[in-house]
Amino acid sequence: MEEATLTLTELLAEAAAAASLGDRAEAERLFRRATERSPGNSAAWLGLASAVSSSEEKRACYEQALAINPNNGEARIALQRLASLAAPEQASAIQTTLSNAAALVAADPARYATAASPSAGNGANDDHEHSPVAAGQVLFCANHPETETTLRCNRCGKPVCVKCVELTDVGYRCKDCIRQQQDTFFNAETKDYFVLALVSFVLAAIAAPIIGYVISIFGFFGWILAFVLGPTVGGTAATIIRRSIGRRRGRYMGVVAIIAILLGTLIGVLIGAMVLGFFPNLLALGIFAFLALSTIYATLR
Ligand SMILES: [Zn+2]
Ligand SMILES: [Zn+2]
Repeated sequence: MEEATLTLTELLAEAAAAASLGDRAEAERLFRRATERSPGNSAAWLGLASAVSSSEEKRACYEQALAINPNNGEARIALQRLASLAAPEQASAIQTTLSNAAALVAADPARYATAASPSAGNGANDDHEHSPVAAGQVLFCANHPETETTLRCNRCGKPVCVKCVELTDVGYRCKDCIRQQQDTFFNAETKDYFVLALVSFVLAAIAAPIIGYVISIFGFFGWILAFVLGPTVGGTAATIIRRSIGRRRGRYMGVVAIIAILLGTLIGVLIGAMVLGFFPNLLALGIFAFLALSTIYATLR
């Protein structure tokens, strides 16, 4: 793509042209490109803010522009407007950002004076904004100490380069914070997996021969019963299993439960066959197991 050879100014001009032609997707793509290439350029962030559609993303972009220069008028005004439209919790977070920025400006008005008006400070004619602000605020990525950046994770505040950050629904986050949030969602302990496996195994070992027997009574028509019973029994089993582990969630619970259930089913059916001399209709039991297991997997996943 010839895009790679464009200067930042040309890239921003193309993005603005796409926006003026109503091609929002292309404008968004080009502005995003510009922010990736020059994360310290507030014009790129303001452009991206105008091109993205969700207010969360807009907010993240304006916050980046404000981080580059806390006295950026356009970003300030836009954030105030977003705050007035946002839910109370978000509005107060935005207000905090704004008052932090105001405090920075108040502490050193001379330093931030140059870019006070929206038109003066965010010209697109400069790849790095060699303003006193940018020069004084050069940050280095926490993971790549040699890489300069102006991005910060909006959760932990750590400076991160474009490789170490992801644009989530709630703005720019470092990968550690994203993983941590997933870990708080997946709150299971190791012992939960043992309990999960044991409960699943025992339930299956008891239920499989009984259900196999009931289904087989109906002979050929057992598969109809399997269709009816599968999801219901699966749902009940999933509830029992989840309760047994205090409703905690784990990344691999669905898989562990299914393996334990298959083993339990095998043992249960074999014991049933040996003790009772009875072997269930495998087609019907297979249909039942498939429906029950997919229900359990969907619940525990
Ligand atoms: Zn973080
Ligand atoms: Zn990095």
